[in-house]
Amino acid sequence: MIRSQTVLGQMIARMADEDHYRRWTAQVERAGHCVRPVRLMGSAMTVNAATGEIEATYASEQEPGGVLLVACKDRRESVCPPCAARYRADAWHVFAGGMTPAASAASDDSDGVDDAGHPLVLATFTAPSFGRVHAARDGGVCRTARGGKRTCEHGRPLWCHSRHDARDGMVGAPLCEECADLAGLVLWNAHVGELWRRTVIYVYRALAALAPSVGGGPVTVRGVREMLRVSYAKVAEFQKRGVVHLHVLARLDGVNPEDPEQTIAPPAWAGVELLTAALAHAAGRVSVPLPVVDGRTAAMARWGAQLDVRPVQAREIDRARVAGYLAKYATKTVSDSVSGLPTSRPRADEPDVEGGGRLPAHVAALTATVRRLARLGTCRALRLARHVHTLGFRGHVTSKSRRYSTTFAALREARRAWRLSQRARERDPWVGGDAGLSDNEGAATVLVGDWRIAGIGYRTLGDRVLAEVLGREHRQAREVLRLGLAQ
Ligand SMILES: [Zn+2]
Ligand SMILES: [Zn+2]
Ligand SMILES: [Zn+2]
Repeated sequence: MIRSQTVLGQMIARMADEDHYRRWTAQVERAGHCVRPVRLMGSAMTVNAATGEIEATYASEQEPGGVLLVACKDRRESVCPPCAARYRADAWHVFAGGMTPAASAASDDSDGVDDAGHPLVLATFTAPSFGRVHAARDGGVCRTARGGKRTCEHGRPLWCHSRHDARDGMVGAPLCEECADLAGLVLWNAHVGELWRRTVIYVYRALAALAPSVGGGPVTVRGVREMLRVSYAKVAEFQKRGVVHLHVLARLDGVNPEDPEQTIAPPAWAGVELLTAALAHAAGRVSVPLPVVDGRTAAMARWGAQLDVRPVQAREIDRARVAGYLAKYATKTVSDSVSGLPTSRPRADEPDVEGGGRLPAHVAALTATVRRLARLGTCRALRLARHVHTLGFRGHVTSKSRRYSTTFAALREARRAWRLSQRARERDPWVGGDAGLSDNEGAATVLVGDWRIAGIGYRTLGDRVLAEVLGREHRQAREVLRLGLAQ
């Protein structure tokens, strides 16, 4: 137990005994330098399944502080940078893995077509406007009056000659709160998942409409689905105005009628131009009916006019950059874009999303709108009360179609298998960061454990600061090693 008034005192106390400090740093390293690990108390043993013999035992008592530290594994950079870095690396593999679905020796350097001949594009689907908002324009003025119209119907200016700093809390705020369609914005966020699902259906329709006729007759949607498959990975990102847009990596595959599970290159006529045209065609036509609120009938969610589709070059460096770009978004949270919001839904014992009035006015107006809609009978199915902190958005930040590439689960499994092989080699069953929590030590042994949570995060701020410093040193050492190897 460390008792000290100051953070520095806590750090000094932790480092006072060299042996203790070495064991503590080893423990922190095993938890991947996570800044808010789960502290577990308990014990575990590995038992030989055939003989019932106990092969190894472990108790958290033998660790410094009597606890086992387990990484939080949070994807969000603002919550835990080391765990987010690991997530980002996994996300990179998920995105990049799909860019070369079938390993092929053939090389094709034409734009937007990978080695195996799959057209690949990066598309950004945006939301429509829900009213003019203040903008940061790289030091330029926010908005100039255009078209002679200088005020809205409420008599408020449609211009703003301020130069906003990205952090001044004004960016994303409506020019006129009465003109802003906050209910429309929240409902749009709540339906973007369904809008995307329908978009994929429309892409197949568009492919059928745009495909050259094969064998003389028109190509049906069913016919297209027998020849082509659209695979994708996507990331949702919040804009300052509180609305989601989607970054989508879309790939066109062929279908092998003998083996539909296989991912093969599409026919030659299904190129990057066809994929680009089909995405644009679908985005312009798809819609989702919205529940009736505030007496508005026949309201629909649609994509905004700004659809950006660009081919992903076949060169490895371009693919790596695109995967990195998407992986970076995968570790962002709504709070990184919309200031003041918490990074996750507050627990029952925490202050609510509004946090006692620390939100900028326009963000508070949005959370109030989510709460208001949550109480309406027409919106009950959306379960909006659970999504106040995401302004109505209900989906996963990162998702992909089944055949796009490997999964996060597969990567975790690979890492665990590697760790188990390491343990076996070192004859130490507790090398891994989540030692004692998995139950597969090879077929012959069974892991029996009894654990309870002692707490979340380090017990003192001093420990947390030390863990951050150790994590930084660790990353720097790895970087030096990587650069050294690269030379
Ligand atoms: Zn963590
Ligand atoms: Zn402004
Ligand atoms: Zn107005």
